[in-house]
Amino acid sequence: MKIFFKLYNIFIFLLILLFIGLNYIYIKEEINYDKNKLQILTNNSKKINQYFLINKTFIFSLKDVLTNNLQLNELSHPAYNQINQKDDTYNILCVLDNIESSLTGIGKLEEIDLDTIHEIYSVLYLKPLFKTILNSKHDIKWVYYTSAKNFIYVAPSNEVWGKEFLTSFYKKEFWTNTIPLNNPKSELILTKIYDDTGKGYLTTLSLPITNKDKFMGVISIDISVNILNEMIDEDILIGSIYLVNKDDKIIASNKKFGLNDVLNSTPNILELSIFDDMLRLVYIEDKSKKIISIIRSSISQVLLLIFILSIIFMLCHLLILNKKIKLLANRDSLTSLLNRRAMRNESKKLLNITNRYNQDTSLLLLDIDFFKKVNDTYGHHIGDITIKEVANILSKNTRTSDLVSRYGGEEFLIMLSNTNSKKAYILAERIRNDISNLKIKNTDLKITISIGCTEYKRDEKLDSFINRVDLLLYKAKDQGRNQTVKG
Ligand code: GH3
Ligand code: MG
Ligand code: MG
Repeated sequence: MKIFFKLYNIFIFLLILLFIGLNYIYIKEEINYDKNKLQILTNNSKKINQYFLINKTFIFSLKDVLTNNLQLNELSHPAYNQINQKDDTYNILCVLDNIESSLTGIGKLEEIDLDTIHEIYSVLYLKPLFKTILNSKHDIKWVYYTSAKNFIYVAPSNEVWGKEFLTSFYKKEFWTNTIPLNNPKSELILTKIYDDTGKGYLTTLSLPITNKDKFMGVISIDISVNILNEMIDEDILIGSIYLVNKDDKIIASNKKFGLNDVLNSTPNILELSIFDDMLRLVYIEDKSKKIISIIRSSISQVLLLIFILSIIFMLCHLLILNKKIKLLANRDSLTSLLNRRAMRNESKKLLNITNRYNQDTSLLLLDIDFFKKVNDTYGHHIGDITIKEVANILSKNTRTSDLVSRYGGEEFLIMLSNTNSKKAYILAERIRNDISNLKIKNTDLKITISIGCTEYKRDEKLDSFINRVDLLLYKAKDQGRNQTVKG
């Protein structure tokens, strides 16, 4: 029972260790996961930021070239002579290497004022830059300048809206959000996304152009949402990432989203500001998926921990078993006193010491009187209890340095170290007295004991020593029992 409890305690202790270990592994993996997450998000945000900064550079270069041109007094452009007039619209198709650009406008050429012609000249000179931007491999779909004077210059050549300028352009977000009325600080504007037939989802980056404090038009770059989606890396992240504008409208994501979807504020958010705070990269964590991912990544460590703890448990179990086996081999199972074999072995060792150091050693042989009657009257079970109680009395009255054994059925042999026969006799009488006062639960049983008591003679053999004490016990029985006979 005691051993079982010990093993049980070890098991509970190892369970607590397992619990602490699992907690430690989980927290460690969670920190790793969060670090990784932040790293990936930071990388993504850097990529997106860089992409927008390049586009910003493009659009400001266009602005610089255009405003410079507008400020020139003398300017003309050879392509102007190739303008075609058809009904109320005019257009020119310009080709530079593989890039086609077209300028289309509403009105009659002969009626256009000089300022507008100057503006058309200035705009036509954007062609090389348009080409550079479109060839830059940044997945830019359109580059265009929309004039307040009813014309547009666009590259690549606009096959979609039939090479015509449409007044409905002035109602589109890229225009309405950029004109001075709605953008007094002339800031760079990013529209919400829209579906451009043929080119997929796009978003437009626009900048107003002014000349001598007069608003002229808007320079725009159309960016494909696809390239932004690709920049949002899903890799290890278990959650949704959204690129949103100032109005929380979703511009790109690693999840499916609709044109006018707005990101509602949700917990488990990690936000990174991008592109002068015009955009935010928002990460929304899926708690359960995160836990599954952490568990998956820590499984090998958990298995190793369980393996180590199991080995420790098995080792402890083996040690305990080993102890138990030794105990069983040397102890009497009923009383836990030394058994006959162990008593003889231990006695020999003690006698060696006795001889070497010339110490006093005494022997008591005790036998319960008329024990057969106890069994006959009260039953074997009470007989067993009685033997156990007697053994308890013997243990209580002796020191740990003494050897106490159950030498036979109801016979006990005690070897007392550093004890002469006088002291041994006193002890024997105390034991005899205690046993005569012993009460066995639920019975009126009274028992007595006879004891032989003698002292060791130097260099005497163990068997001879025991024989002498046996004779003394016999004498005690013979003289009427319930007495100690010393010899
Ligand atoms: P005496 O005073 O001469 O010693 O008489 P006794 O009856 O004690 O002696 P005897 O040797 O005739 O009987 C000893 C009895 O002890 C016989 C046996 O049944 C009983 N006994 C021995 N070992 C055990 C045991 O483990 N449990 C029980 N209940 N009885 C035992
Ligand atoms: Mg007896
Ligand atoms: Mg006996």
